[in-house]
Amino acid sequence: MRFRLQLITIQENGQEQVQELTEWARLEELRPETTGLTLPESKQVLQSLQQAVIEQQVKTYLTERQTCAACGQRLSLKGHHELKLRTVFGKLTVHSPRFRRCPCQLPVGPQPFSPLAQLLPERTTPERVYVETLFASLVSYGATAKLLAEVLPLEEQLNPMMIRHHLLQVGERCDQALGEEQASFVEGCPRDWAQLPIPDGPLTVGIDGAFVRAQHGAGWFEVIVGKSVLAFRRPSEEEEESSKCFGFVQTYDTKPKRRLFELLKTQGMQPNQQVIFLSDGGDDVRNLQLFLSPEAEHRLDWFHVTMRLTGLRQQALGVKAMEEKQRQDLLEQIERIKHYLWHGNVFQALKHIEFLQRDVDCLEEQTPKVKKLQQGVDEFWTYIQNNGGYIPNYGELYRCEETISTSFVESTVNYVVSKRFVKKQAMQWSPRGAHLLLQTRTKVLNRELEDTFRQWYPAFRPETLSDAA
Ligand SMILES: [Zn+2]
Repeated sequence: MRFRLQLITIQENGQEQVQELTEWARLEELRPETTGLTLPESKQVLQSLQQAVIEQQVKTYLTERQTCAACGQRLSLKGHHELKLRTVFGKLTVHSPRFRRCPCQLPVGPQPFSPLAQLLPERTTPERVYVETLFASLVSYGATAKLLAEVLPLEEQLNPMMIRHHLLQVGERCDQALGEEQASFVEGCPRDWAQLPIPDGPLTVGIDGAFVRAQHGAGWFEVIVGKSVLAFRRPSEEEEESSKCFGFVQTYDTKPKRRLFELLKTQGMQPNQQVIFLSDGGDDVRNLQLFLSPEAEHRLDWFHVTMRLTGLRQQALGVKAMEEKQRQDLLEQIERIKHYLWHGNVFQALKHIEFLQRDVDCLEEQTPKVKKLQQGVDEFWTYIQNNGGYIPNYGELYRCEETISTSFVESTVNYVVSKRFVKKQAMQWSPRGAHLLLQTRTKVLNRELEDTFRQWYPAFRPETLSDAA
């Protein structure tokens, strides 16, 4: 049997036009492998359908633009060229005429213009860019090229660099859409805040870093990744968790604070809401979280504190040149420091770190390992001194089942960064490339990419359509 596909175009005035699109045949006998359309057939169908639909749309569009908007006179044709248009269903060639400008528009004229080229300056439809960005945010550019070429009627050899170029443009547009950076995002005064409705549950924001390999053998650079979790929304107060991730490259980003502020706003943050920031206390991260909310509370991540203490313990155990009694004293001192920190007693903790410094300084043999330990203890003192203001009573918070560690961000770091940026040893990144990919990747993971495109192109995939699906 044979199948023939026809397209019927119905104009606004009811006029209909029938076009033959394509044909395909099947053996009478049904076999598993001949059941339904095959992928290659579907590609042919979609591409011919796309070509026909676009031709009709273009024809109508150009008819309307062939008369002068000001005086209604018909414009004369200056020539035409072939416009290559990339769509989700193939790279099509569209006939694009050039018109002379109307004499009434002088002195702007008489240079000719091409309405279609003006309408489609990118020569790529938004949906094509969307699909490329969606997949390239999840898997490598090369894999995206293979995947899309496999299922869509696209160019035979899809270029991964073109997909990268499109994705970076999307990332850049996302960044431009963010407002200006500000030192502080706290606005209004406590009297205004008191007038606000009762806020949703507390927001907990965890921030951590990860390293990705730099291009041209330039070592590694840091990317900052975080997760923001909203405990519940009123009035339901039931488990309606909202969780969103974010990421950026510190050395490239010019508005990290704005970025985080806007993210928290999408989760409904208001000035009278409790916001808890947890981080490892690095200078860059500390500045990021300041002045974002009047009700902000900053906590040094307990996980990073204990990791540093474990490091000191290992160093103490590694020093051979001391008596057993001395070693036990050092280890006990470290335990005491941990105890004071757990209860948020920064004053006592610093005092005991100083005792530890003195004990290490007094060791008779100053071997390289002892010097290393000395350095470690000095650094820990500075760390606690710098972050003293962010050390809460962990013990008490823990008893109240509050978050004291950024361990809930660990899986996010793994998901946002590791799975896409460090999967293969060979993967190398420029700070710009990594930063912009982080923007599209977090948008995809937060399920915001489609909405973002809809903000840019209001008629992009109308929401009612996806709801009905
Ligand atoms: Zn005119």
